[in-house]
Amino acid sequence: TLKGKTAVITGSTSGIGLAYARTLAAAGANIILNGLGDADAIEAERASLAAKHGVTVLYLEADMTRPEEIAAMIAEAEASFDGVDILINNAGVQFVSPIEEFPVEKWDQIIAINLSSAFHAIRAVAPGMKRRKWGRIISTASAHSMTASPFKSAYVAAKHGLAGLTKTVALELATSGITANCISPGYVWTPLVEKQIPDTMKARAMTRDEVVNNVLLAAQPTKAFVQPDDVAAMALFLCSDAAAQVTGANLSIDGGWTAE
Ligand code: NAD
Repeated sequence: TLKGKTAVITGSTSGIGLAYARTLAAAGANIILNGLGDADAIEAERASLAAKHGVTVLYLEADMTRPEEIAAMIAEAEASFDGVDILINNAGVQFVSPIEEFPVEKWDQIIAINLSSAFHAIRAVAPGMKRRKWGRIISTASAHSMTASPFKSAYVAAKHGLAGLTKTVALELATSGITANCISPGYVWTPLVEKQIPDTMKARAMTRDEVVNNVLLAAQPTKAFVQPDDVAAMALFLCSDAAAQVTGANLSIDGGWTAE
């Protein structure tokens, strides 16, 4: 049980992040939600999580492209709950384009949200976790932290970077009761995947069905999408005492993609 623990989950208004929030709240953790989206929908989710699980749930609106907002979010979370015990770096965006046409501002945005935000958040939570001698740092990387696909230069670079950052942090915090790990999903059926289908159709001159079957599921030997709740179950395991010696790892949940 995570009763009395507090988890900050970036990008938790949708998809995998929301699944983490629901799973950790169900295990008793207080939750800080973060991410973009419709204010009424976010408030409804916040209130329902709190009521359903009897935990405290806050929504903090930090933009993951802004280091000072990330630091302020961690400070506010620590002040509200006497510390942040679990940090899940999950916010992420995708952009699909051949490199010679890849917009420079998209590169900068993806590196900021998918990689640098994790640095800023880890940097801010580490001192408190060290003081309390307990912490769990989890980052949603991707199969693309281990392998590449064409037309995803920024995403693949950011996710490989996130895996390297995680290993470094794991070593630095190894004797402090803090673990740092990546979870690396293959294709999970979320809005992020759905939204890249049109651009992939364009980049590869394919129909929608061809993209789903020949590009997305082609990568996964199981021929099935990963489900957000299954990714969240892996995070819950990493938060447990049984996972105290799992650190610096990059755990795949990808239907066999990276075994090929
Ligand atoms: P999603 O689009 O459903 O969720 C992304 C979340 O990030 C949302 O809450 C969004 O509001 C938030 N976000 C985006 N920009 C932000 C910003 N500037 N500041 C704060 N929050 C911001 O996507 P998802 O599929 O749930 O992706 C979550 C993570 O999982 C990402 O890091 C993604 O790279 C990773 N991932 C996804 C898949 C997949 O197939 N869906 C596979 C591997 C890894």
